[in-house]
Amino acid sequence: MPLLRDAFLALSTNPAARKFVVAFPLSRKVTRRFVAGETLDEAVATVKRVNAQGMLATLDFLGEAVTSAEESRVARDEYFRILDAIEKNQLNAYPSLKPTQMGLVIDPALALENISAITARARAVGTLVRVEMEDSPHTDATLALFKRLRAEFSNVGTVIQSCLYRSEADMQDLYNMGAMVRLVKGAYKEPPTVAFPEKKDVDANYLKLAEIFLRANGNQETETTRMRQLALATHDKKIVDWAKQFIREHNTPRERYEFQMLYGIRSDLQSQLHAEGYPMRVYVPYGSHWYPYFMRRLAERPANVFFLISNLFK
Ligand SMILES: Cc1cc2nc3c(=O)[nH]c(=O)nc-3n(C[C@H](O)[C@H](O)[C@H](O)COP(=O)(O)OP(=O)(O)OC[C@H]3O[C@@H](n4cnc5c(N)ncnc54)[C@H](O)[C@@H]3O)c2cc1C
Repeated sequence: MPLLRDAFLALSTNPAARKFVVAFPLSRKVTRRFVAGETLDEAVATVKRVNAQGMLATLDFLGEAVTSAEESRVARDEYFRILDAIEKNQLNAYPSLKPTQMGLVIDPALALENISAITARARAVGTLVRVEMEDSPHTDATLALFKRLRAEFSNVGTVIQSCLYRSEADMQDLYNMGAMVRLVKGAYKEPPTVAFPEKKDVDANYLKLAEIFLRANGNQETETTRMRQLALATHDKKIVDWAKQFIREHNTPRERYEFQMLYGIRSDLQSQLHAEGYPMRVYVPYGSHWYPYFMRRLAERPANVFFLISNLFK
């Protein structure tokens, strides 16, 4: 299916396709499989349900690649509202945001200012902020941004993608810093000059990178190691089974890891992990800018298209 994956990833950044799909009358209904709704209230209702089932959550206000400082501040303000909602409703959740939604492409200083304000508010609420990883032209700037944030805040984490050749060095660097890392395979189309072209190599690298964090490192806690945590963000049952075994064999302390999955994907596996006693966090996206997120989900599993179309007629 790599050709279909590439086709959906190309469509995810195509303005004409976006216009067509967004205008399609049944699109909203279809996207509800992966998106909690268009409003914060709908997302909060979903997080409450997730929390009531005993699982944790992370809230994403959909949006990326903003082209003006005003747009970035509108997104920043929505993250303030997310934090208010987390506090008011006592949600077990934290926000997750994209650097290009915060203005990274316009000016890294603008993104730093916006995310610093959100992270300061999150610290007051007693939660953290996850800075996501986008496609490889933004990797250096995102890691530089994260390091600036980490120098000031301990309640901030980032994301590493196992598809990139560079990630082993980045992962080791973040481990040494005592960072919180979400490990993913990578959702973007990348050239073979920077990323493994074969899925089997991306999967193998995921295990190699996870090991860096999952190996227990003795009992001595220092200020640096205290915050270190790995979020295993994958729906890949083989990787989940491998991680469970690794954690058992190496006595990895519970506060050192958690599993994360996307809303609407492998809910069976989410419930199973929770029932087995593993920390399980569900990523809950919402907002009207759902198009690129939705297309990336189709790219990961093109069979979703047939499933969604058949559901429309039920
Ligand atoms: C919590 C979370 C946060 C993420 N944050 C980022 C990020 O910041 N940056 C980034 O680049 N990527 C991010 N991703 C996406 C990630 O990079 C992958 O694209 C995505 O998770 C699919 O890879 P996989 O590990 O599930 O493995 P795959 O090998 O793609 O899938 C394994 C199995 O999972 C199921 N599955 C996977 N995707 C779907 C789907 N769309 N629909 C239905 N079933 C599916 C199927 O059963 C499939 O066989 C995130 C993923 C998660 C879970």
